[in-house]
Amino acid sequence: MLRGTVEDASTGSDSDYSNSWIAWFLSSKGNEYFCEVEEDYILDRFNLTGLNTEVQNYSHALDLITDNLEDDFQDEMRGSLDIQARLLYGLIHARWIVTARGLQKMLEKYKKADFGRCPRVMCQSQPLLPVGLTDTAYEKSVKLYCGRCEDIYSPKSSRHGSIDGAYFGTSFPHLLFLVYPNLIPPKSGPVEIARPLGGANGGAGEDATAKRRLRAREDVMEPSTSEGVGEGVSTAAAALRADRYRPRIFGFQVNEIAKLQRWQEALRDRQVARLEGQERQQENT
Ligand SMILES: [Zn+2]
Repeated sequence: MLRGTVEDASTGSDSDYSNSWIAWFLSSKGNEYFCEVEEDYILDRFNLTGLNTEVQNYSHALDLITDNLEDDFQDEMRGSLDIQARLLYGLIHARWIVTARGLQKMLEKYKKADFGRCPRVMCQSQPLLPVGLTDTAYEKSVKLYCGRCEDIYSPKSSRHGSIDGAYFGTSFPHLLFLVYPNLIPPKSGPVEIARPLGGANGGAGEDATAKRRLRAREDVMEPSTSEGVGEGVSTAAAALRADRYRPRIFGFQVNEIAKLQRWQEALRDRQVARLEGQERQQENT
């Protein structure tokens, strides 16, 4: 038998490759972020250059995802081969979705909001795009990028939260907006303005430069600009703590966005200085 049933490593349920391995993979629960990589792309070995060093049992894994695995391939090996096949498909997927055809496929999914929507009220349910924080497998799980607030979020479901970010890569959403500039969400509209400060600001008055030095650099940037008021954390400190995600295409910071971010940061620094001034005034009264 060419395609048997195999124990699904993540869900423990039986799944069968009745049509093709890729069709089975795409229809499996938790794999909704992936799009179909066209067979022509996979069969062109040029596109797979270097992947043989990243995937164990590469040629068998490739045979499995292209439905060319020999009939008599031992069943007991299938389980581990399946893990390698998923890794191989993921790595091919990352290369595929930055090609013209791949971008188109992901665009269809984006339009259906298959990757969820931005949780920020101001972003008005802006659809998200998957992004990796690194292009190396087994390092960081996938994040979701909002083109409107330019921030990243973790997927809500743990099934999606455990997907390897390298299967989407660091460039994909930014390349999509570069190729389809008409899809870039408007940045204008209501702007988040810091709320007037309440009376209870226990953390106010601390040395601002010390706060700046203590600022934590976290891997996942949670939007935290307006949080912390009334919880003993000063607004200025909260604003400083918010680290920013920097869009990159093939490792290079996106130029236009880089300029915009410099401007936004200057604006933020001015706002922080104003808040610190206000906090100091409150201390003195
Ligand atoms: Zn957003």
